Amino acid sequence: MRISPPIVESLDSILPDEPLLMMGAGPVPIPAKVAAANGIVINHLGDTMSRIIEQVKAMSRYVFQTNSSHILGVAGPGSAAMEMAVANLVAPTDRVLSVNNGFFSGRLAEMADRVGGDVRRLTIEEGFAASPENVAQAIEDFRPQVLTIVQGETSNTVCNTGLPEICRAAKEAGCLVIVDAVCTLSTMPLNMDEWGVDAVITGGQKGLSCIPGVSLVAFSEAAWTKIEARTDTLKHWCLDAKLADKFWYKSSYHYTAPVSGIMAIHEALRLVCEETLEARFDRHLKCSKALQAGIEGLGLSLYTHGTSRLNSVVGIHVPKGLEQKAILTHISERFKVEISGSFGLDIIRIGQMGEQCRVHNIFRTIHALGSTIQALGGEANLPQGVAMLEKALQDFEPEFSER
Ligand SMILES: *Cc1c(COP(=O)(O)O)cnc(C)c1O
Repeated sequence: MRISPPIVESLDSILPDEPLLMMGAGPVPIPAKVAAANGIVINHLGDTMSRIIEQVKAMSRYVFQTNSSHILGVAGPGSAAMEMAVANLVAPTDRVLSVNNGFFSGRLAEMADRVGGDVRRLTIEEGFAASPENVAQAIEDFRPQVLTIVQGETSNTVCNTGLPEICRAAKEAGCLVIVDAVCTLSTMPLNMDEWGVDAVITGGQKGLSCIPGVSLVAFSEAAWTKIEARTDTLKHWCLDAKLADKFWYKSSYHYTAPVSGIMAIHEALRLVCEETLEARFDRHLKCSKALQAGIEGLGLSLYTHGTSRLNSVVGIHVPKGLEQKAILTHISERFKVEISGSFGLDIIRIGQMGEQCRVHNIFRTIHALGSTIQALGGEANLPQGVAMLEKALQDFEPEFSER
């Protein structure tokens, strides 16, 4: 043997004794039941797997709010689900209007470019939601066959609040709509059928509070009709929806399914069903608004304007005189709380997805953030931050569920 085994450390010695509280823009903490399910491996084909797949599809129909019979899983990150939606719905030379709010919506455009689409980017002013009127105008001018958009742009914490109107305008023009809901699904309303969305993309590790690496895509009837009618052979074998349909609807082999990841997704979806969407939306709204109040109470300023602000991920200006990197390092090392920077922006981001939206987690995060800023020589009013957080929790009125 020429190559000898390397000397490595055990995971125990690499990982911290106390796990970090994952309060960044994903991955997020997972419930114990999801973690346990992720340790299970069974046969990827057969009766047991079929029963589990049937349940995953039934629960997905609830979570996506659709009657679609074309819900497919993907062994891969949220980006693989994005690529599956794009590759199957954008045929070479198709006109694609890509509503571009930032990093992730830009990725959808790039994917559409790569599959040979004729892509026009509608660049939205930084920090603002796309205006339905402007999108409708762009649809009229360009006559796209496909429109891509994110519900929440995780990178700069903008929410496309006009999504229902945008979908309606696209539908009227006979254009298919692909919506990236990776960070938003199950944290805020997304009514796939009612709004007329043709493909909804989600990943595991954000809104669903599951593991990274297994993702879901739901296609509408109109989308499926286009997929079935395509006569060209897709360049992406793994992401070919017609091949994936064999596993998801015909109990047969496409590739070996990520069995343990599907178990984890099953549990994550089951927990959403048990909680109900209404209660879950309220939990997210309550915790995120309270966190935002706490941040402002500390004396920090939020990055995105109120009306365009995403609740699933909260962006905060780095206080003057401090460095983003130093804040992230200090809060992680000293307080065992992990938060995120961003792609090229001078902001820090705190996630409010799934298990991150627990009252004890936001108190700990506000304390850790305020203390970190003080330790680095900045100003943070901790008593006021905590008080405003608490007040926002107490004053919260549910919007979706009964009291
Ligand atoms: C994180 C994210 C993605 C990409 O997910 P990966 O699992 O990292 O591939 C796509 N879109 C949005 C809106 C996201 O937040």
